[in-house]
Amino acid sequence: MSRTMAEAQLPKRVDAVKLVDNNQQLNADIDSKNLTRLLDAVVHCNEPVHCEIQFERDQDKNRLLTGSCNTNVVMICQRCLGEVSLPVTSRFQLGLVFDDDQARQLPKRLEPVELDENGQLDLWVVMEDEVLLALPAFPMHTNGECQLEQTEPEPDYTDSDEKRPNPFDVLAKLKQK
Ligand SMILES: [Zn+2]
Repeated sequence: MSRTMAEAQLPKRVDAVKLVDNNQQLNADIDSKNLTRLLDAVVHCNEPVHCEIQFERDQDKNRLLTGSCNTNVVMICQRCLGEVSLPVTSRFQLGLVFDDDQARQLPKRLEPVELDENGQLDLWVVMEDEVLLALPAFPMHTNGECQLEQTEPEPDYTDSDEKRPNPFDVLAKLKQK
């Protein structure tokens, strides 16, 4: 995917009301070093979060923030406990509101995002939320890349202090009944 302004940094705080009035489009990146909640949730994220955002109104005059963001994160594979590099993409259509009353009036398809009293919005927070929501709950390697699948079944136990019952043995006994 080519882009013309890949090096452009997405502004952090924006005047969302003005951007909606201008039908503003923003294609820019957030340096993932600035997204500490994301960094806490993954092993690392060395790529920026690429954002393509459109501010607009729908036919009912709701203020919308529509677009997508994507990046690449490294997480722990829940099958082999090794590191796995995963692309993360979120597509969103958010309704920009000033209070809970407005949020309740939004159509169900729109996720409400609250502006401050001056119509300002922290775009980094919103984009970071989107990436966090898009992280897989059970990150795993794709088939063929997972270490666990390439490992042969355990050979005969030579370990002398192996005293606890092996869960697989217990399972095998249950199956024999
Ligand atoms: Zn794996």
